[in-house]
Amino acid sequence: MDPRVGSGPLGALEDADVLLERGTIAAVGRHLGGTGDARVIDARGEIVLPGFVDTHTHAWQSLIRGCGTDSELKGWLARCVGPLFKSSVSGADAYAGVRLSTLDEISTGVTTVADFSHAFNAGFARANLTALDDSGLRFVFAYYTPDDPAVADEVRRVKRDVIDPNTRARLQIGSHPSMSGLAGLTAARRLADELGVALHVHLAESPADGDDHQMEALTRAGALEPGLVVDHAIHLSAADLDRLAAHDVRVAHNPLSNMRLATGIMPLPEMRRRHMKVGLGLDGGTNDTSDMFNDMRAAVGLQRATSLDPAASPTPADALRMATLGGAEVLGLDAEVGSLTPGKKADVQIVDPRAVNFAPRIDWISQLVFNGQPANVDWVLVDGRALKRHGRLVAVDTGRVLRDAQAAADRVHQLLHRGRSS
Ligand SMILES: [Zn+2]
Repeated sequence: MDPRVGSGPLGALEDADVLLERGTIAAVGRHLGGTGDARVIDARGEIVLPGFVDTHTHAWQSLIRGCGTDSELKGWLARCVGPLFKSSVSGADAYAGVRLSTLDEISTGVTTVADFSHAFNAGFARANLTALDDSGLRFVFAYYTPDDPAVADEVRRVKRDVIDPNTRARLQIGSHPSMSGLAGLTAARRLADELGVALHVHLAESPADGDDHQMEALTRAGALEPGLVVDHAIHLSAADLDRLAAHDVRVAHNPLSNMRLATGIMPLPEMRRRHMKVGLGLDGGTNDTSDMFNDMRAAVGLQRATSLDPAASPTPADALRMATLGGAEVLGLDAEVGSLTPGKKADVQIVDPRAVNFAPRIDWISQLVFNGQPANVDWVLVDGRALKRHGRLVAVDTGRVLRDAQAAADRVHQLLHRGRSS
């Protein structure tokens, strides 16, 4: 993902070594000896690439997999999410759901995840953060902050006590743009500015969002600024795209979610023509799985299926870049992660192509996008620490995570049922 390191637009390099030192990429090239006591991962025949960056998910939503699968966005929200805002969904439930999601993310080669937490209550948000930390992943926690000074104070405390001391953690402020909620959006933007972090919002996801005049709300709140992350960004005019591009607003593209919720197809080629920063997201429970290879395929396939042009943007190489360095740019982390550039964090995945779904070798870049599956991810390292090793998750009792998630999902579905019938 760094043209200076190797050949072609992605800087590919054959038969090379990657030297990691104290959590950092020290060198990339041929015949790197390392120090005498270097530990060697023999990845001959495999593909070493940066870990994927998931720019938008809701990690707790593994607990609502399979919920409302015949609903569009608003119906799904009403059935599977909305009732929880008035419930006592617990920190234990948040922990169990996030733990399961993060294992799924690691399995597919993700090393950085931006988790938009609905933060139903303070205990939920704190347990959500603990689970993210326990996963070993690098993470950006987008704390949904309604227009409530008590929540804003808790966000300040969380930043000081939990986020800032953790080198793998970053904060964002989650909000929702609408003219009827302009005061809340403005307060969220001010809090983000005060804390020096980015705002993260859903934008123009479904045609029904047009009623909320979201672009006007973002403008009036002073939120159109570099670093703002908008998710979906589907139902926008050319003039809207011009304004987003002019303000260097970043886009999280969630093609699997858009297909599942029947929300539409993002104008990705129009964004690329405007040189906008776009990454890929898995969007929690609306995908019902974390599979970044599938997300890349969907990003390519949606544009080809609608343009009838196999050369349509994005190309497979574009998709691979969006899933790595592009995502890091969206989150403002591209100086630290997203490519195997010496000096960056040792966030690395190793894919083994010697599998029935992947071999034989013709074009590794295209095959990563069109053939890859999470099962092909052999190693995942964050800060040089292995989270997946020889195809297996490291130091985790998966059976226990699954049992805890089932118990939490059972409780959450009771809350949803009660919320819907009240
Ligand atoms: Zn979302």
